[in-house]
Amino acid sequence: EAKKAGRGEQRVFNDAMNAAAKDGLVIDGALRGAIAAGEFYLVYQAITNSHTGKLTKVEALLRWNSSLLGPVSPDRFIPVAEDSGIIIELGTWVLEQACRQMGTWKQSVLDDVTISINVSAWQLADPGFVELVSQALIRNRLAPHQLELELTERVLIEDAANVQAVLAQLRALGVGISLDDFGTGYSSLSYLTQFHLNTLKIDRAFVMDIEHSERSNNLVHAIIAMGHSLGLQLVAEGVETAGQAAILEKMGCHYLQGYHIARPISPDDLLRFADLRVGQAPAPYSDYAI
Ligand code: C2E
Ligand code: MG
Ligand code: MG
Ligand code: MG
Repeated sequence: EAKKAGRGEQRVFNDAMNAAAKDGLVIDGALRGAIAAGEFYLVYQAITNSHTGKLTKVEALLRWNSSLLGPVSPDRFIPVAEDSGIIIELGTWVLEQACRQMGTWKQSVLDDVTISINVSAWQLADPGFVELVSQALIRNRLAPHQLELELTERVLIEDAANVQAVLAQLRALGVGISLDDFGTGYSSLSYLTQFHLNTLKIDRAFVMDIEHSERSNNLVHAIIAMGHSLGLQLVAEGVETAGQAAILEKMGCHYLQGYHIARPISPDDLLRFADLRVGQAPAPYSDYAI
């Protein structure tokens, strides 16, 4: 009987594995040609000064509306795109698209924001990456400091020596480098001094509990203190309540990002959001959410 049950479990397990693999294969298949078919677009999420409420940065987030699968979340398709290598082409599209959007915001209320884009390890390992970034800036007439690249801790360990060299070149160019999801990855503190970073983004997992868990509260406090002493800018991710925003401001976290500030939205909606934020100092934390 036990043996039978065991086999049953085994089968369930295999089915789940097959489903997952098939899922990956289906996504992989659908990804091919999706760029050319115009199935991708970017949404933009505001990052505001915790003290004044001023819109300072905007993170570009990729969206895929597949003709075969419908909307697929980046958490599902980015890993598949990384496995197949399509991420190189996709990442290049994101870079160009975000820079072009930024170019259209010249002379608008969004003129002096910084645009942040997410970059995968594969892209950074590509020998032409620095040139690609520099060409995108030139083509769209952007100053290098208007662009920031978000990397995860995983990127840093993949090929540390090469990554360090590439980041040094990007910083020399004037592009900002931000460490995304800080605290969730391999978190070697030596990264913080070894690599040419200027911003730390504190992961949502810690921000989430800051009001109710003393442990999370202490942890975020410690990250902020460490960031300050290393001369890094700090962004809190996933800020969902006014209480979290107030605590983070008091702790000296420079910037806030999350649904409490704004959801990822279209360029038009972002312009409207920015209009509301002009000359607001200090701003009440309005619930701009859609
Ligand atoms: P990320 O870079 O850490 O982006 C933040 C994620 O948190 C986004 O999810 C955003 O929509 C979500 N978020 C923001 N504020 C809140 C909040 O208050 N509460 C909650 N629950 N979530 C919040 P999204 O857009 O689904 O992206 C997921 C991840 O996919 C990103 O995490 C990033 O790692 C990756 N990704 C997105 N776009 C790109 C891209 O163009 N290239 C690459 N390589 N990766 C991307
Ligand atoms: Mg990010
Ligand atoms: Mg993040
Ligand atoms: Mg993330």
